[in-house]
Amino acid sequence: MRTIRKEKRLDKFLTKSEEQKTQSKDTDTTTTSSLFTWTGHPFTDAGLVALLLLSGKKKPEELSKEDIENVVNFASRLYARKEWSSGYIHAMMLPNSGILMANPSMAKKRTPEAIKKNLLSLLNEKEDPRAPICEICGRRHARIKPVYRSDFPLVGTGGVPNYFPSGKDGANICSHCLFLAQMMPLVAYRLSRVLIIHAYPYQLMLEFHKEAIEDIKKSELASTARDFKRPENFLFEKLTEIGTKFEIGKLENASITLYYFVNNNQSQEMEVIYIPNPVLRFVAFAARVDRAGWKKIVSMGWNKGCAKRLSKKPEEIPKSCSNDVYSKLLSGGSILPYFIDFQNRKVNASWRLLSFYCSEVLGLDREALEFIKGIADRIVETVEKLPDNKLSRRIRELERAEKLYQFESFFIRVEKDRQELGIPEALMSFDDFARILTSYGEDLNVSWKTVKNLLLFRIYEKLHDRLMKASAEEVEAEENEEEFEEGGEE
Ligand SMILES: [Zn+2]
Repeated sequence: MRTIRKEKRLDKFLTKSEEQKTQSKDTDTTTTSSLFTWTGHPFTDAGLVALLLLSGKKKPEELSKEDIENVVNFASRLYARKEWSSGYIHAMMLPNSGILMANPSMAKKRTPEAIKKNLLSLLNEKEDPRAPICEICGRRHARIKPVYRSDFPLVGTGGVPNYFPSGKDGANICSHCLFLAQMMPLVAYRLSRVLIIHAYPYQLMLEFHKEAIEDIKKSELASTARDFKRPENFLFEKLTEIGTKFEIGKLENASITLYYFVNNNQSQEMEVIYIPNPVLRFVAFAARVDRAGWKKIVSMGWNKGCAKRLSKKPEEIPKSCSNDVYSKLLSGGSILPYFIDFQNRKVNASWRLLSFYCSEVLGLDREALEFIKGIADRIVETVEKLPDNKLSRRIRELERAEKLYQFESFFIRVEKDRQELGIPEALMSFDDFARILTSYGEDLNVSWKTVKNLLLFRIYEKLHDRLMKASAEEVEAEENEEEFEEGGEE
């Protein structure tokens, strides 16, 4: 009963975003009787996604028997082909599968009709009340025989137990969950391993896998995810594209996990890549409010060696190279420095995006952020009154501050500038000064170095043009000196 209650709650969450036109009472009764439900298991949920996308439906309870039969027809026709059977299903997902007849010994008997019969018979399989409850959905009794990896990825074989609870051979899975797993190849992305993007709310999962189905309809082959070589790069690219469809508030409870696996006779391996919720909301927010800024941030993160190797094929870089911005976001590191182009003394994104990142991802409280912004604006108010060369020099002091005492002396110098320029009121009070220097410890994300980056961001945002003019003049002056020196040698 508990499971059912949970399904209702989830369903309400999903429909909340749309207008409340679906009568909730109806939904409740149909949910309990529908053939399939979301389980939270990536492989069966993926199969359900395939059923829904191919039927043009959004929720499991909308699926009719006819929809299911149509999808089975579609799948069987593809699965009977060699490219799918031995080239994909047997090679990467379900080695020696008897149900999908991917076992090489079945090649001669393999026909769409035979595969269809196997699939439909799963749905008609009688339940044995003495069998344990299904480990995946908890709704039905498991099949009488344990399920092995040839029918459900990564659950081991009779002789090689792995990846399932209790260390026994095979898993207790019901025939309906098993059926769904057989639909998974349709929505999976085929990179060098198989990629499933499991997402909640499920509407998000449908969005992520829509492309796979569209590709199949076009080419009748499994989607290669636009030839991306790295699953996380594909994920971030897609998230940027579809992020705008979701209001940030509705992503509050959202989660995304990538399952990147291979299950064949040579190996069974899986990499699980979890996208932290703040990161997910940040990328969606970036896509919505400052897509150009986000692109610039990402472009600074490509592995330099890889990007250089691929400089003749720049379109390959996002597919093949690793990206520091992505890996930092996934591992909880800070990407704050990527918001700033130190070399060109300019910002890569808007303050709005920076502010979202700092408060939602780094966890810097908004009040602190406003405080730092206020200080930065007063620094700007002071230094903009200096002549270009002096302005550039002053900011360089901040840029070069590697030790806390250097950071400290920058403020003292600006304070002196203020007095010399006759600007009323101090840059900051003693308390502010103490706060900016000591309140932020040496924590990876929030330290005085974070404050320094935030100050520079604001300064570049306001004074980029003048700073660039000043640096250009400096370079010119240096070049003139060199010319003079060279001239002297002649
Ligand atoms: Zn089940």
